[in-house]
Amino acid sequence: MNRRAFLTSSLLTAAGASMLTLSGFRRCSDDLADDEQQMPLLFVGHGSPMNAIEQNEFHKEWQRIGKELPHPTAILCISAHWETNGTWVTAMEKPKTIHDFGGFPQALFDVQYPAPGDPALAQHTASLVKSTPVGLDQQWGLDHGCWSVIRPMFPDADIPVLQLSLDYTRPPEWHYALAAQLAALRKKGVLILGSGNMVHNLRMASFRQPEGYDWAIEINELLKKRISERDHKGVVDYHSLGTAATLAVPTMEHYLPLLYVLGLQGKDEPMAFFNDKTMMGAISMTSVKIG
Ligand code: ZN
Repeated sequence: MNRRAFLTSSLLTAAGASMLTLSGFRRCSDDLADDEQQMPLLFVGHGSPMNAIEQNEFHKEWQRIGKELPHPTAILCISAHWETNGTWVTAMEKPKTIHDFGGFPQALFDVQYPAPGDPALAQHTASLVKSTPVGLDQQWGLDHGCWSVIRPMFPDADIPVLQLSLDYTRPPEWHYALAAQLAALRKKGVLILGSGNMVHNLRMASFRQPEGYDWAIEINELLKKRISERDHKGVVDYHSLGTAATLAVPTMEHYLPLLYVLGLQGKDEPMAFFNDKTMMGAISMTSVKIG
């Protein structure tokens, strides 16, 4: 489907969004008819900020996926690197590029990604969420969890990009339930992209360790199995993966973006993994495309 047809279809179906059920694991996107078009979903393992500028296997895959996707009308990114008390969506006209890291080459600090914002879409996004107030943020911008992966996909920086923050006071199931309330955006051609890492333990990560430790590989495989089987409850309740899960997910911020993407998956929507790899002992780059 070309962009125009996709947009037309999106606008026609946008009014059909229904409310979510906060309890259990039902999604409003389950209610979509088979022929309704909606933008795919991405969970992207972002790993090192250097992936933003190195022409490595991850970066090349991001470039490929950007060409493969329908052209989004906008992008809503849930990044591991924006944690807040409460939930916020960026609502400025021109989000700044945030270089939220240290100790990297100047070339990485020189990167700018001047994608516009979309204040009206931010307001609409906030209005869709009924389970908690969503504030309109004028301070943040685009952090590296967001621009490091979006820039290779859409190098022209001509698509509006918004970020939705992670409320660090809330449990995993709360984030999963919030995500489902954003389903109407997909039918407007908005690409919802979670950026984190399924396995992420920086304290145990080492450049001398090219592959993942046994426990990292084990959790990566267990998570893939649950995602493939659409066992979302088993992914939300990651502690049920066993003791290795406490090593793989020592803090939740890099894991939660995955739950936003799963929370939006329709009942029969196909999924595929990409960049499926563990590295540096304690990092998984495994990523998921849905739809
Ligand atoms: Zn990160």
